[in-house]
Amino acid sequence: MQKYILILGACGQIGTELTLALREKFGNDHVIASDIREGSENLMQSGPFEILDATNYDALEEVIAYYEINEIYLMAAMLSATAEKFPMRAWNLNMNSLFNVLNLAKEKKVDKIFWPSSIAVFGPNTPKENTAQNTIMEPSTVYGISKQSGERWCEYYHKKFNVDVRSIRYPGLISWKTMPGGGTTDYAVEIYHKALSQGQYTCFLKKDTALPMMFMDDAIKATLQIMEANTETIRVRSSYNLSAMSFNPEDMAKSIQQFIPDFKIDYEPDFRQAIADSWPSSIDDSKARKDWNWQADFNLQRTTETMLTNLKKQQTN
Ligand code: NAD
Repeated sequence: MQKYILILGACGQIGTELTLALREKFGNDHVIASDIREGSENLMQSGPFEILDATNYDALEEVIAYYEINEIYLMAAMLSATAEKFPMRAWNLNMNSLFNVLNLAKEKKVDKIFWPSSIAVFGPNTPKENTAQNTIMEPSTVYGISKQSGERWCEYYHKKFNVDVRSIRYPGLISWKTMPGGGTTDYAVEIYHKALSQGQYTCFLKKDTALPMMFMDDAIKATLQIMEANTETIRVRSSYNLSAMSFNPEDMAKSIQQFIPDFKIDYEPDFRQAIADSWPSSIDDSKARKDWNWQADFNLQRTTETMLTNLKKQQTN
């Protein structure tokens, strides 16, 4: 059967790179990007695009019928830092968009869906180091509550209605093609931009706040891998822990100083510190490794090298 994929929220940090990767793999015309706003030139020009609100079920149904879509990737959401400012909007967007795609799959309008969860499902009572797949989960943020509820609903729809939903708890993602969209780990992208443009960065987290992080190429690799895996190998239908590296802002500054020796960092923690304090500092992803052979390629050193090289090129263009 021919694959036709719809990406909701395609113009964001992950959606942009995911769309391009899926187009490369399955052909430009097989991957329909959609969002409530237009995206980068590359994304808009490489294949079909629709303005589409992920909370509008009827509009989704129409686009799915028109393009004969059989897979959906739901990337539209309000992220952790922004969600603290607009709790009800975040809850409505994050939950209604998920119910829409789960119900479309339940009604057999599509065969398979991908929905990302986050390390925000964990909370202040979760063991922080090497956090297990199954552990205490008492999220204390609006975003985390929505992701944890989402996980429960995914598992429920799988068990009850045999919906083929697959999910990953992404750590903080580092990328150079698109800026991050209002999360607590955004510092790990901003720092590279500021290192190159000003040689200095004021970090909104404390220097010793370690968080699980991942370079975007690894996140995309994991997403394609879990979606291509045989259905019987996907034993976790809530969401898989996924890990690549774990570091704090001071480690990151040191890794930048290897390339830009004069780079300076100072620290002015804001409201995002409390969010970061409630999250794990490292993640045990042995289930993803065992079930679908997950393994990360990028450590901090390689991430820094790749970020600085590409951002420099981007600036000179
Ligand atoms: P982002 O904020 O960069 O992008 C989200 C996109 O959704 C934006 O382009 C936005 O315009 C769009 N959008 C907003 N409302 C919409 C609506 N009603 N209909 C359609 N589109 C809408 O987010 P991202 O970083 O790309 O994250 C994608 C997913 O991955 C989210 O579910 C997020 O929670 C999850 N995630 C991201 C990270 C990270 O570090 N970036 C970490 C963990 C989980």
